[in-house]
Amino acid sequence: MTLAPGSTIGIVGGGQLGRMLAIAAAQLGYKSHIYAPDEAPPAAEVAASFTRGAFDDEAMLARFGAGVDVATYEFENIAAGPLAALSAQAPLFPPRRALEVAQDRLAEKQFVAGLGGRPAPFAPVSDLGELEGALADIGTPAILKTRRFGYDGKGQVRIADPSQAASAWASVRGAPAILEGFVRFEVEFSILLCRSLSGEMVLWDAPQNIHCNGILARSQVPAPSEIEGPIRDAEALARKVAKALDYAGLLTLEFFASGGAAVFNEMAPRVHNSGHWTIEGALTSQFENHIRAICGLPLGATALTAPRVVMDNLIGDDVLKWADILQDRAAHLHLYGKGEPRPGRKMGHVTRLG
Ligand code: AMP
Repeated sequence: MTLAPGSTIGIVGGGQLGRMLAIAAAQLGYKSHIYAPDEAPPAAEVAASFTRGAFDDEAMLARFGAGVDVATYEFENIAAGPLAALSAQAPLFPPRRALEVAQDRLAEKQFVAGLGGRPAPFAPVSDLGELEGALADIGTPAILKTRRFGYDGKGQVRIADPSQAASAWASVRGAPAILEGFVRFEVEFSILLCRSLSGEMVLWDAPQNIHCNGILARSQVPAPSEIEGPIRDAEALARKVAKALDYAGLLTLEFFASGGAAVFNEMAPRVHNSGHWTIEGALTSQFENHIRAICGLPLGATALTAPRVVMDNLIGDDVLKWADILQDRAAHLHLYGKGEPRPGRKMGHVTRLG
């Protein structure tokens, strides 16, 4: 299948990821139709059309699907029913199965472990008794994470001592969860892979990722040379995951490099914040290759355009520095068109090549 330029790409989700996908789609002559619940989402500003609808509204999603030539998503928490209603109307990439696996931290870890990947020690937790049992097995420090709907460190609580079990359980409000052993890592990194409809795969240089309060602050390439071994192992695992899911589009896997091993953290069946640097830092960006993949076009080359690339997120009030950032004539500033700079809100990013 090759979708001719001029066709319409449906994008479920209206945030900055959808915005940058729509910009890449427009460059290739496609029209984007955004579906999101918000009144004026950042992606709709740069798209040909916008439907306002809830992520769980099956009838609306079906109608949206009927009006597009291919559908994709930038938002992971869409339930199985609405997703099926959409995919009955339009080809949907990445495939539903990828979303179903990645939506659930337990399913995701089991799936990746089944392919030979190594997650941190983990155990499912559905009540306080199970949490206490899991803490006895895994030890402390540990992290309790809700199985679903967590992102940017939300839905997570660190447990330093087993005596904190009850308060930790209360803070996830009884949601199905997993307990994870705390990984003492040297470096965090991610693998960005794109797979075409015909099974061709390209990967970018793996960025080192630096988080602050559970939110990505910086991604930079190249990653330190000491973690070359873990990166090679992680790349091999990512290829296996993509093949097993019969994947099409951009796939992200996040890892900890710990004691010479790649410890799997989580995956995202979508373009990812740790790949924003590819817009200027690689011959083809993650966004463009995702669009190419789902439209049946050949994938673009992913080589670096500079020996070193650094992407910094502008979180909350960081965005107020936009005028200063522009004083550096070589800085690439991206603003997402969001209104209020609330704490923890991703407002933009800046990429510097060197
Ligand atoms: P997540 O949403 O699971 O990616 O977690 C956000 C961030 O919290 C990660 O990128 C790490 O910096 C930290 N983190 C999450 N899980 C663990 C873990 N098991 N051990 C150590 N740090 C973790």
